[in-house]
Amino acid sequence: MKIFVSSRNKEEKYFSKEAIVKGLAEDGGLFTPLDINEKKIEIEKFLDSSYQEIAYEILSYFFDDFSGEELKKCIHSAYDNNFSTSDIVPISKIGDSFMLELYHGPTAAFKDIALTILPHLLKAAYQKQDKKVYILTATSGDTGKAALEGFKNVEDTFITVFYPTKGVSLIQEKQMKTTSGNNVEVISVNGNFDDCQKLVKTCYEKISTNKVQLSSANSINIGRLVPQIVYYFKAYIDLLKKEEIKLNEKVNFVVPTGNFGNILAAYFAKILGCPINKLVCASNENNILTDFINTGIYDRNRKFHTTISPSMDILISSNLERLLFILSDYDDKKTATYMRDLAEKGRYVVDKNLLKKIQENFISFYCSEEDCMKTIKQAYEEDGRFIDPHTAVAYYASKQYKDFCKNIILSTASPYKFCNNVLNSLCGYKKENEFDAMRDLERISGEKIPTNLKDIENMPNLHNKTIDIKDGIKTVLERIECLK
Ligand SMILES: *Cc1c(COP(=O)(O)O)cnc(C)c1O
Repeated sequence: MKIFVSSRNKEEKYFSKEAIVKGLAEDGGLFTPLDINEKKIEIEKFLDSSYQEIAYEILSYFFDDFSGEELKKCIHSAYDNNFSTSDIVPISKIGDSFMLELYHGPTAAFKDIALTILPHLLKAAYQKQDKKVYILTATSGDTGKAALEGFKNVEDTFITVFYPTKGVSLIQEKQMKTTSGNNVEVISVNGNFDDCQKLVKTCYEKISTNKVQLSSANSINIGRLVPQIVYYFKAYIDLLKKEEIKLNEKVNFVVPTGNFGNILAAYFAKILGCPINKLVCASNENNILTDFINTGIYDRNRKFHTTISPSMDILISSNLERLLFILSDYDDKKTATYMRDLAEKGRYVVDKNLLKKIQENFISFYCSEEDCMKTIKQAYEEDGRFIDPHTAVAYYASKQYKDFCKNIILSTASPYKFCNNVLNSLCGYKKENEFDAMRDLERISGEKIPTNLKDIENMPNLHNKTIDIKDGIKTVLERIECLK
């Protein structure tokens, strides 16, 4: 069976169910599957497959201690009714490239694809145990709502979402604050996303309790990462069927990147046999990954920028740790040293050999705020496409990088989640009320507002708690006392 080990200590190992329930390894490492090189998926065999069938192939490869029945149940619960299009992730044209639309789920962001299935996986993995599962989640905007929707009213679970005060869009915040359900809690933290993520990781390391089982809905959880591999195969198959590419012709994926989860899933797809040439990592002004991929130096001692693509305002990209571990031939000691340097000095430098392997697979570009706004406008005026700021960051990177392969841009959110900034990019003005901006955008673009975003305008805020970072652990401990 597939073994999942901590990226900092290969001796800490589990099968997939336990890795999903635990979320993060006890030493702070990230559970990573060993030996994923061996199996190559024959892409032809997916030619007549539905999204659900491709998902089954990928998930059963990684999560082989689930029964086939269990996985099918999870897949159908997640994908049969939650998305507004039956193909889940449609692919369309933008300029001379393609756009993989990942925002047709319940909260209008790509996080839905993994977070509609994670609660089902977790429940199946956790059966027959008597403790409650307590999910701690840090969000830069989209994970929070998608996780709340996924976990609300799921028996024997409780979820707390931490988001940075002023670090998410108004619509993202309103989406979270209006979530009902008797097992959900949303707290804003006076800090940025990195502070929220650090709080969650510190809780795993510091809190030892047998009263509840702590787990995570962030992409540090392998149960979130694996379902994201599926849409890379689906995109490839769809282009093949549309005769835009030939069988085994390589493509590039351009991914707007924050925590490195989405693009790492693309790398997994590549190892499994999806014909991918380059993975283009697109950053906003928080361009730490661009610098890293160009130089091998990861240095978080820099200014943190609050941008119009808030879900990528991140300086510590957790999933990069998994890539370092895999590409260093699963060298746990080396990975642990890099992560210790990052914690202690705020920087690490990878060796030449590792950097070479990273650069064989990845290339990176970053997009300034000005270029992001220009790209939103250009996409609308020149290509007739209405895109969100994160997608615009990727579209800009795609324009910087052309080789012999077609570019597929990942479109990660609906523009209606970032109304005033999109309106400002298109028309040069903002509205005082975010929902007025939403209505203006609908008029201009002619594209219907997703009902789940329209409806929140008149819903009451149910969560209004704000805390300082230093009170985070105390808040979590108090919650644990209430849950036992
Ligand atoms: C989360 C998010 C990203 C970044 O994805 P990572 O997996 O964290 O790299 C990009 N765009 C949007 C809209 C997001 O919500």
